[in-house]
Amino acid sequence: MHLNRLTCHELVEMIRTESVTAEDVVEHVFRRIEEVESKVNAFISTFKDDALEKAREIDKKIRREGKVGPLTGIPVAVKDNICTRGKLTTCGSKMLSNYVPPYSATVIERIEAAGGIIIGKTNMDEFAMGNSTETSFFGCTRNPWDLARVPGGSSGGSAAALASDETVLALGSDTGGSVRCPASFCSVVGLKPTYGAVSRYGLVSYANSLEQIGPMAKDVLDCAILFSVISGHDPRDSTSAPRPPCDHTSALDGEIKGINVGVPREFFAAGVDEKVKKLVLDAVSVLEDLGATCEDTSISYLDYAVPTYYLIAMSEASSNLARFDGLRYGFRAKCEGDWNEVFSATRSEGFGEEVKRRILLGTFALSAGYYDKYYLKALKVRTLIKREFEKALAKFDVLVAPTMPILPFKIGEMVEDPLTMYMMDVDTVPVNLAGVPSISVPCGFADRLPVGLQIIGRFFEEWKVLKVAYAFQENTNFNLKKPEI
Ligand code: GLN
Repeated sequence: MHLNRLTCHELVEMIRTESVTAEDVVEHVFRRIEEVESKVNAFISTFKDDALEKAREIDKKIRREGKVGPLTGIPVAVKDNICTRGKLTTCGSKMLSNYVPPYSATVIERIEAAGGIIIGKTNMDEFAMGNSTETSFFGCTRNPWDLARVPGGSSGGSAAALASDETVLALGSDTGGSVRCPASFCSVVGLKPTYGAVSRYGLVSYANSLEQIGPMAKDVLDCAILFSVISGHDPRDSTSAPRPPCDHTSALDGEIKGINVGVPREFFAAGVDEKVKKLVLDAVSVLEDLGATCEDTSISYLDYAVPTYYLIAMSEASSNLARFDGLRYGFRAKCEGDWNEVFSATRSEGFGEEVKRRILLGTFALSAGYYDKYYLKALKVRTLIKREFEKALAKFDVLVAPTMPILPFKIGEMVEDPLTMYMMDVDTVPVNLAGVPSISVPCGFADRLPVGLQIIGRFFEEWKVLKVAYAFQENTNFNLKKPEI
């Protein structure tokens, strides 16, 4: 049996009954990594020896105490912008290619306390800016469903590692779609939690007011299990909501009779691939057959979501990335000169093109004379969009939409065209502007490429989003299909 192909809930049960050991599971995962990683390039670094040692400790503990936690012995791959103490955390950038953080993110501490084993750090767009994983300093990750195509991004490594069974669980971060986009492109499950539901302590910031760390998995139950472990209040993050950790799996019973589903027509407008549209509308029919009431609806101002998102994200990025100066940590250019020259040389050489573009545009949007015209205006429009979602979600339990308007595209096909790239985020960024939770769940294949269904919910109602996603999954099983690599 290939243990690396199983889910967390299956494996924890097998580890509990001692029919397999945590060491077996970790060994299977690394065998798979050695087999396919040269093709997929999902990881920036892996920790085989440490992971095996941890697994053996866990096995001993089980024999001693006979108890397991929710993630006991489960391999977890972590996006490389989440700090892991003593382990390289590069953000996919030359700037941090030598950075070893002295502390771990809260989510890492919680995963380890629950028995999870961090097996490696996954590839990503540089500083999480992108939706294809092509801007990584460490080369592009390939989509396991078609190695000539992108896996989505920016958490492309995490999604590809799951799809190719190189891990059992993974973490991503989602500022404007970076968990949901690669989940959709690789046919796995990814949840963007409500803003404040998961601690951002130890997440290297891109755009603080938009982003959340999110669980990624091979099925909805695993996603709910990982979310239960990482969510809940953290005093070390001032934006963390004062809610205790709780079990988000109990609502997954397959029962969605009477749930009100809104289908906002703007998400299906021009620009959405007809094949994607068809699969998502088929998914709506499945929900209807299961007893949900589905109704056409409308959300205003969505035309403004992409420019609003990019103005805010780039402004926050220009401020956040000012800390990378080559003086205290990270890359420093070889340059004899005063601090200003060292600073400029370091940032010119250390950042890639896309990151520099965003720092420049963000700095411009925040500069005196333009602040009101761009940044402040964007904040106002954000409020309008947020209100629209609140209005729609007062009427409906959840809203459904495509996760991505298009199918996974070819590597290199879009790199020269940043605006087209930005436009691909039309269906994901409104959710981050509003701050509400949203999941992407596999809903079929077109031209043998995966398509994701997006389910958006009310603030802190991840349970309901997960419930609807679970019912859909249990009646369609698209998540069980595996790519041949
Ligand atoms: N594609 C979006 C961007 O480039 C979202 C990225 C993200 O969620 N980190 O900003």
